[in-house]
Amino acid sequence: MTHAIAYRAAILHSLADPAKVGLDASYAYYEDGVLVVADGHVRDIGPAEAVLARQPADLEVIRFDNKLITSGFIDTHIHFPQTEMIASYGEQLLDWLNNYTFPEERKFVDAAHAARVATLFLDELLRNGTTTAMVFGTVHKASVEAFFTESDKRNMRMIAGKVMMDRHAPDYLLDTPESGYTDSKALIERWHNKGRQLYAVTPRFAPTSTAEQLSAAGRLLAEYDDVYMQTHLSENKQEIEWVRSLFPERKGYLDVYDHFGLLGERSVFAHAVHLEQEECERMGESDSVISFCPTSNLFLGSGLFDLPRMEEHQVRVGLGTDVGGGTSFSMLQTIAEAYKIQQLQQHKLHPLKALYLATLGGARALRLENKVGNLEVGKEADFLVLDLHATPLMKARMNNAHNLFEQLFVLMMLGDDRAIAETYIYGDCRYRRDQGPVAV
Ligand SMILES: [Zn+2]
Repeated sequence: MTHAIAYRAAILHSLADPAKVGLDASYAYYEDGVLVVADGHVRDIGPAEAVLARQPADLEVIRFDNKLITSGFIDTHIHFPQTEMIASYGEQLLDWLNNYTFPEERKFVDAAHAARVATLFLDELLRNGTTTAMVFGTVHKASVEAFFTESDKRNMRMIAGKVMMDRHAPDYLLDTPESGYTDSKALIERWHNKGRQLYAVTPRFAPTSTAEQLSAAGRLLAEYDDVYMQTHLSENKQEIEWVRSLFPERKGYLDVYDHFGLLGERSVFAHAVHLEQEECERMGESDSVISFCPTSNLFLGSGLFDLPRMEEHQVRVGLGTDVGGGTSFSMLQTIAEAYKIQQLQQHKLHPLKALYLATLGGARALRLENKVGNLEVGKEADFLVLDLHATPLMKARMNNAHNLFEQLFVLMMLGDDRAIAETYIYGDCRYRRDQGPVAV
């Protein structure tokens, strides 16, 4: 057994969805708290005095001032190959793919390039306090090999997959129904459940896969019950029209995926901004998941996601950055934009609901709530030390905040990577703001 370490600071974590249990029962907060970690797991948590009284007297205690410990952020939708094309000007979805994304993804045929970008990407996640993500590769098997190799080295709990795409993209980025199937299968065999790595079958979106390929994707899901599926859905109105013209025999966009057996409790659909009523119902019935990607939806001019509408249909929702359609790796910035999107629709996003979405809600979306998502005893110890005084403005504003919720809201509106003081993965510190990534 590795030796236990106690971390003493204010501690806040999410316990349940405020939409289900109300705000008061949705979290735990210890103004002077202690988190005890051993063997990569949470061993104890609670008010400092009580926890320290029941732990050995010689327990090592690390103390933080003006900091807040919480569980690591969970990003339910992001593209690692788009790291170096974030902030590309002037287009909406379909032109943006053709003009920027596809040429960038071509570079990942080179394994060395893929390894370099995977390193940059994972370091950027750690700098932003993201400890788990659901990640797209490119069509190249090597891109996902490179990604998992780097992620496994850092022992990060990641879900990723090779893009399946056999039409409506440049020749240099196409696979076939057969090669998409066999490459995905080989990656599942090699990486799924290896350490903390998990695999997601990844058809890019309905327009870039033939019926044969979507059917092969469904076959993979039928063969492996605990692999994931990730794709895009109803992001942009032109895209929806295109899907209708490509699959006229189906009732609509979601029905295309449904027909090929791609819905279910481990199926994550990014965006879902423009769903029909019947599609919302089907999402709920099939227990499928939506990744809400605020910065991307604003940046690409896609539309406004209606969160309460999905809650009515009991659809699990997580937050996604969708880099490089999204403009920030920071889940704090992502929350700030999620808040504004709800405001534009006369909905409120309470800071505790936002915390839930970025942590436990993300874990539930990815069916990882028994492993990560909060700091309950026995969970894997992925956690953050947030700096409430990260900038002079934040410090001044915090001093003018009257309670926990105000503090949390200020952190979410003004915070970004500067507010992440330390990031811990499976009990080990992997990032310190003042030193950078900790070598692996
Ligand atoms: Zn995306």
